Amino acid sequence: MSDEYIRVENLKKYFATKRGMLHAVDDVSFGIKRGETLGLVGESGCGKSTLGRCLIRLLDSTSGKVLLRNDDGNGYTDITKASPKEMKALRKRVQIVFQDPYSCLNPRLSVWELIAEPLIVNNIYSSKNEMRKRIRSLMDTVGLAERLENSYPHELDGGRRQRIGIARSLALNPEFIVLDEPVSALDVCIQAQILNLLNALQKEYKYTYVFISHNLSVVRHVSDRIAVMYLGQIVELSEYKELFDKPLHPYTQALLSAIPLAKLDVKRERIILEGDVPSPIEPPNACRFAGRCRYATDKCRSVPPALTEVLTGHYAACHYAKENVKQ
Ligand code: SF4
Repeated sequence: MSDEYIRVENLKKYFATKRGMLHAVDDVSFGIKRGETLGLVGESGCGKSTLGRCLIRLLDSTSGKVLLRNDDGNGYTDITKASPKEMKALRKRVQIVFQDPYSCLNPRLSVWELIAEPLIVNNIYSSKNEMRKRIRSLMDTVGLAERLENSYPHELDGGRRQRIGIARSLALNPEFIVLDEPVSALDVCIQAQILNLLNALQKEYKYTYVFISHNLSVVRHVSDRIAVMYLGQIVELSEYKELFDKPLHPYTQALLSAIPLAKLDVKRERIILEGDVPSPIEPPNACRFAGRCRYATDKCRSVPPALTEVLTGHYAACHYAKENVKQ
């Protein structure tokens, strides 16, 4: 754990519903190094956004730990147990960018006011001049022209609105940013601009990112490693290239088979998943993918597979992942 910036241990987030406990995030563990991007991918409802919110304590977890390396590099603080006073300091170090910038920006505030808001709330500057300089510099960093400072969100396109969201998240000089589907609501060409911006910012400021998306091809362009989630659990975790070249979990294989290939002469079998995703309310004590997996056996239907290191740094939660290595 020595070189990890953030360490998540056995994290669970359950919601009480009328029909029972909904297991949104169910015993998830992983680490992320400083300056690394971990892609978190899966179908909608798999728990990836809930996990992202628990990482920065926008949601309180049911149990488990989220250990964040201390400012001075010595030891870790468990964000799930931080006191309100500790949380106030931690809030400056962890931030989030949401999917739909329009719904999370106050329509009554101008670009200037929106970017100033986190600086004012946290009492960062006593001098107006200093704050003005900081806002101009943030606008410049995210590629917002100075002439837009008096514009309102409804006057701007989706890309510019997302740039405001990013500027707000950078305002307090964070170290760790959860990017929750940051480009899903944008046109394809604007998606590329925002992804390039996020990459450039990370290179310059060494941010640590968790990039959440339902789209594996988007995640591939920004991630160092990718974690695939299914029904509240991580089923595969690997360096991004190896995950694409040698997926070990049948669910990852199915997701990858749905991505169109750029080369016309390369053929890949399209795996159509049949069956329904089981209910996240009191899920079965077995492999949660068994009802849709073409390789499922009796063992899969009665014994839950643990997330195991099958190849160096490549983890999979499948009883037969080792056999997949040989194929
Ligand atoms: Fe499929 Fe069994 Fe592996 Fe689950 S454990 S993914 S059902 S082969």
